[in-house]
Amino acid sequence: MNVSVRKFELKDVPYKVAWINDPENNRYLHYDLPLEIEKTELWYERTKDRTDRYDAVIEVDNVPVGLIGLLSIDEKSRKAEYYITIGDRDYLHQGVAVKATKLLLEVAFGELKLNKVFLFTECENHAAVRAYERIGFKREGVVEQDIFSKGRYIDRYIYGITRRKFYRQENTPVCKLGNICGNEVYMKREDLISFSFGGNKARKAKLFFEEIDLGQFDCVVTYGSSSSNHCRVVSNMAAARGMKCYIISPLEGAKSTYNSKLMDIFGAERITCPVEKVSETIAKTIQSLQENGRLPYFIPGGGHGNVGTQAYLDCYEEIRQFEKENGIWFDYIFFASGTGTTQAGLVCGQILNRDKRKIVGISIARKSPYGRDIVLESIREYLSEVEVPITEKTIDDATIFIDDYVETGYGASSEEIQICIMRIMTQYGIPLDTTYTGKAFAGMLSHIKQERLKGKTILFIHTGGTPLFFDALA
Ligand SMILES: *Cc1c(COP(=O)(O)O)cnc(C)c1O
Repeated sequence: MNVSVRKFELKDVPYKVAWINDPENNRYLHYDLPLEIEKTELWYERTKDRTDRYDAVIEVDNVPVGLIGLLSIDEKSRKAEYYITIGDRDYLHQGVAVKATKLLLEVAFGELKLNKVFLFTECENHAAVRAYERIGFKREGVVEQDIFSKGRYIDRYIYGITRRKFYRQENTPVCKLGNICGNEVYMKREDLISFSFGGNKARKAKLFFEEIDLGQFDCVVTYGSSSSNHCRVVSNMAAARGMKCYIISPLEGAKSTYNSKLMDIFGAERITCPVEKVSETIAKTIQSLQENGRLPYFIPGGGHGNVGTQAYLDCYEEIRQFEKENGIWFDYIFFASGTGTTQAGLVCGQILNRDKRKIVGISIARKSPYGRDIVLESIREYLSEVEVPITEKTIDDATIFIDDYVETGYGASSEEIQICIMRIMTQYGIPLDTTYTGKAFAGMLSHIKQERLKGKTILFIHTGGTPLFFDALA
């Protein structure tokens, strides 16, 4: 049984009229009956080009069996109301509705890029309630005496499903490390995102690949060094889709690492060039692919840009959800800041929610003002896209970028960092690395001491990079 969903057409009008007029079907529907062919054809002509609704037909093995669609599509809030009617009663209770709904939700969240789909259902319609819950809709409340139908007022449930829930984006775990220097310290395990050793690059890449999956692309181009977590994750995601991945790498630091070995396993093609030739080489690579009829998608190094920022805004929302569920509040959030989008996303989340707390990026390579300016630029870019007017002062105050612990630059470590990493591994069984998370964790500890922080609740975000832990052992 092959279930599909396609747009409603003029030829579907007789089906619609027959189905809706069937008294068994319209028990829970609220049309002015009876429906007539001519009027329904007029309705079709009037509505077919409207962008605030999406009407479709459910087919089983290419035969129409029901109606499905979205109403009140709200472009600003990116939400819409869902409806369904299985018209051909032979197809009830066979999983057709569930399959068709999933296909429609693919359209809603994929093609239409909605954030939420909601529906109303009569509290007495138990079969429908069970089906919606199986699909993943969550009951959000009861709307009492919501409609007047067939002589009485009827209560309805409102159900909703968000984009995050539909794509089953996982919330990464938060664990409590315990008391450190008189503060309660927690860790959010972004390293446990369940793809390619996780990490912040996996969270960002998932969003980039949502775009790639929706578009017409047949290969991916990105940039990063041989130790880049970003390049490992992106080449893995590309390979999983059977797509070729081209990685532009600076000649400097082109040593073999576990990440670069993985990139090789994924069949990524690494193109090396001197660091000052990087932009030029990227442009040339993309151009030559296009000239050969290929359709490349370019992901900026480190997953930089608004897509990457969005990924960490999502992470910020997860943190708030954790706080709500556990009745705690993080006074400080620490993490490793590199190309700046992780920090930009977290800060945007803080600003948009008007939260008062300190979000502290421990720079792992760049010095201020350069490193901090890039974070500020990413924040401005994101906020201008969502069209929220925020003052420069608000952005400036919220952006705390500590560059005291970069050592001599990217990848440079110290004995203190190495001792810290082995201690965290031994005590908690959590691997950190010398380039990012270990450097940031050691930096956080120094900062806590230097600022004499006491009695604070602190979150450290483990941004991943697990393969680098093993490089440091070798
Ligand atoms: C890239 C990376 C960072 C830095 O994230 P940015 O968004 O580039 O600032 C931190 N930790 C790990 C493990 C990384 O791979």
